[in-house]
Amino acid sequence: MDESRYSLLRQQMISEQLEPRGIDNLQLLSAFRKVPRHLFVTEEKRHLAYNDYPLSIGEKQTISQPYIVALMTQSLQPQRHEKVLEIGTGSGYQAAILAELVKHVYTVERIERLSLRAKRVLDELGYNNISYKSGDGAAGWPEKGPFDSIVVTAAADKIPTMLLEQLLPEGRMVIPVGNPFLQDLLLITKEKEGTGIQQQKLCGCRFVPLISSN
Ligand code: SAH
Repeated sequence: MDESRYSLLRQQMISEQLEPRGIDNLQLLSAFRKVPRHLFVTEEKRHLAYNDYPLSIGEKQTISQPYIVALMTQSLQPQRHEKVLEIGTGSGYQAAILAELVKHVYTVERIERLSLRAKRVLDELGYNNISYKSGDGAAGWPEKGPFDSIVVTAAADKIPTMLLEQLLPEGRMVIPVGNPFLQDLLLITKEKEGTGIQQQKLCGCRFVPLISSN
């Protein structure tokens, strides 16, 4: 398939999967129009990359469904000057979308091989505002925090306190919380003063588990 065909598939993904479901942030939609999602999966899966479902990326992990990436990103209300922490680099696709919208993305992945592969793809695409770490993301990345927002792309059984601690006042966090089979996608907002949080359920979802000793 040539690039113009992929570009057509991207436009279709936007008009059929994202816009009808309420994704209307213009900067976000233009990031989805730009980022070549097919390069984040292996060659034999490229023709499926713009379909309305998650795909396997090896190591028993997945690249999330386009709509879920869009919903999570839109819910963070990303701003140009902000720094964002992502837990679960996976393929690197979500990191690329974020890197189009904010100043700097810090992304943590438990499986080193995936982290290195994502970095290679993102380097090749020219992203120079992403920092990578391999390790347990439930501990966050305290040396680089606090963050304007945090996105967790693996399912936790509860909200990791270390992540809340690394969120700025009025910071947002999107995280799937529940059991391994079914979770609620939560939008957490940290209060302006103190350590209180507000919590809103965005939808039901099913992510791979956050594997953590924290
Ligand atoms: N954001 C990814 C989706 C990744 S799937 C993308 O756009 O492709 C979730 C990822 O979280 C997997 O790669 C998994 O290895 C990773 N993960 C699971 N537990 C983790 C932990 N404790 N710390 C960091 N990464 C973790």
